[in-house]
Amino acid sequence: MELTAANDRLKAHAFSLSDQIIEQRAELQDMRTIAEQLEGVNTQASQELQIAHSVANLADMRLREAVETITDGFAVFDSDQKLVLANQAYFSVFDGFPEVTQGIGYNRILEICAYEGLVDLQGTAPGEWVQRMLDRWHKPQITPLEMHFVNGISVRLMDRRVPNGDYVSLVRNITRSLKYQAQLIEAQTQAEAAAQAKSAFLANMSHEIRTPMNGVVGMADLLTETKLDSEQRIYAETIRNSGQALVTIINDILDFSKMDAGKMDLYPENFDLEKTIHEVLTLLAPAARGKSIELILDYDIFLPRHFKADPGRVRQVLTNLIGNAVKFTETGYVLVRAVGVNKSDDAQLVHITVEDTGIGIAPEYSDHVFSEFQQVEDATNRRFEGTGLGLAISKRIIELMGGTIWLESEPGIGSCFGCSLNLQIAVSVDANHSFPPPLPPRLQQVLLISDHLISRSILERHFQSARVRTLTATQSIPALRLLGQQTVDLVLIDQDLSSDDAAQIARLIEKEAPGCPSIMMCSAMAEHSNLAATGVIRHALPKPLLWRDVALSICAALADSQTDTPAPALPEQPDNFRHGDHTRLKVLYAEDNATNRLVFSKMVQGLDLELHFAVNGREAVEKFVEIVPDIIFMDVSMPEMDGREATQHIRAFTNGKTVPIIALTAHALQEETAKMLSAGMNATLAKPLRKAELIDALSRHSPAPRALQTDRTNTGLSCSESTGSNS
Ligand code: ADP
Repeated sequence: MELTAANDRLKAHAFSLSDQIIEQRAELQDMRTIAEQLEGVNTQASQELQIAHSVANLADMRLREAVETITDGFAVFDSDQKLVLANQAYFSVFDGFPEVTQGIGYNRILEICAYEGLVDLQGTAPGEWVQRMLDRWHKPQITPLEMHFVNGISVRLMDRRVPNGDYVSLVRNITRSLKYQAQLIEAQTQAEAAAQAKSAFLANMSHEIRTPMNGVVGMADLLTETKLDSEQRIYAETIRNSGQALVTIINDILDFSKMDAGKMDLYPENFDLEKTIHEVLTLLAPAARGKSIELILDYDIFLPRHFKADPGRVRQVLTNLIGNAVKFTETGYVLVRAVGVNKSDDAQLVHITVEDTGIGIAPEYSDHVFSEFQQVEDATNRRFEGTGLGLAISKRIIELMGGTIWLESEPGIGSCFGCSLNLQIAVSVDANHSFPPPLPPRLQQVLLISDHLISRSILERHFQSARVRTLTATQSIPALRLLGQQTVDLVLIDQDLSSDDAAQIARLIEKEAPGCPSIMMCSAMAEHSNLAATGVIRHALPKPLLWRDVALSICAALADSQTDTPAPALPEQPDNFRHGDHTRLKVLYAEDNATNRLVFSKMVQGLDLELHFAVNGREAVEKFVEIVPDIIFMDVSMPEMDGREATQHIRAFTNGKTVPIIALTAHALQEETAKMLSAGMNATLAKPLRKAELIDALSRHSPAPRALQTDRTNTGLSCSESTGSNS
């Protein structure tokens, strides 16, 4: 039993052992499987590692090759500022310095540059330079820096700190671009010199062309005033107009070339804006009259008149805009409006618009017309003369003055060019002539006979602000009816009535209301000289109207009617150009060109003057001492001594301090004119001389200014003293 029990235990043990063996075998088998699996994974991992290795190697190689292909120096430093990597271009600067290799510190590289004389330190001590370069790397933003090596290479250092603390340094070779830049500067200097030479050439040429043109235009102008048959008149007027057109073209080209060279300067001075606009309109009135275009000025009643700006340039822009409006309009009107927009203490934003009823401009051309040499019509179908420069020049002038210019237009309806300028308000220099006189209190009601709605409403507005009532009529019958029904203190008749003859109306009014003063608003003054001669009209006003002239004329007409005698011709006749003590006014004209002297003498022929000539500045000074003239006209450029120097000499004499000296200058030489004014000239007159302007200057600047009358006053037609240039 014991043996059996022992045998059972052994058996059981053997079974348990055998179970254990089976279990362990199974585990072993599992382990083997796992080992086999792991081996597979391991092989894959090592294969992947190998692949990754070769990819990394390839990337590294690519990076190095890429870095090597850069012709600029490239280097990477770690956060301890030790060199990690650099390309050959970087190292090449340090040929002969083997220590410059991977691992070298940035400070050591700088020391080699400074102490071994590689870099041009431009006078800085090496230690200081190194320190400055190291400090640069510590700034939050490392700014680029130019560096010049003594071997002639120039570089631009561009360093960046990357987020992991490394530094990347790019050293751009700028040797060639610096050379190129130097060449460009040299070329620019040469181009500027050439542009300056071109400007000087153009200024000289235009002066040279202008001198004979003065003869052509001046003589043709005088010729048109002589007795001519109709064919001769056409020839003379053509010569004058073509000459004037040529002068305009020369001026345009010159201005344009000046602007191109950035040489257009402004010469601000006090001027009367309303009068300037009116003068331009007056100058263009003959052209408008030829086409029966009504020229109208609407100057805001509340807008100041005196501003500080360059009046010559303002006039140039206005001449271009109004001239274009007249040129491109066949019938209707040209209306110039000046309104104040914003006003500060000493400045006023002024909008000036020039509106016409002409051919208009299609929208696709509205920007195009402000560019140089751009016209709506092309050369093949041009009906109108012009260079295509006027608007481009006007735009640049307005922009130079800080303003803007614009266009609104509809083809077939008309155009409206506008410009806005912020102008400094100035005080009037000549208050007496600048403001309209107050209307006499006895003027309570005016009858206005005009069929032009805009002109009428502008006059109505002025009368309204003067608290004068207006009655309006567009034809004779209603006008006469009104005269019969109401008390009228004054009648204003528009010469250009479409359905009635204005002269006939004037006759009927004289009959209906004898003694009632009337004023004719005339576009053709000459025609009305004849009517005046027959006693039909006593008072006439030239159109376009300037309100202050209207007011003056009304005062004269009312004063005249009160005395109930025929209107006296204004006291001064053209040949009464005398000053205080009734001796003849002594005029000295210094001019080297014989034709110009002749033109001048012919222009002042009708005036009772004592005229003296000098052919250069030196002679002008001698003549001044000899004859002591009352007024001097001085050409700017003359041989031996120019006008400026002559003026300075004359001003040095005690009796030469106040004598009025008027410079005669080509428009081209405006800068020169500014110098002339600073040299003591009182005013300038542009060549070619126009008779009206010359006489205006004489009236204005003679020691005892007198209103200079044109021939129409001889007819008994009393004209109020016009402040316009055609007075
Ligand atoms: P120009 O008058 O000498 O040709 P501008 O520069 O003054 O040169 O004008 C450019 C062009 O703009 C003109 O040729 C014309 O086609 C157009 N233009 C200018 N003003 C007017 C206008 N008031 N009405 C119609 N077209 C105009």
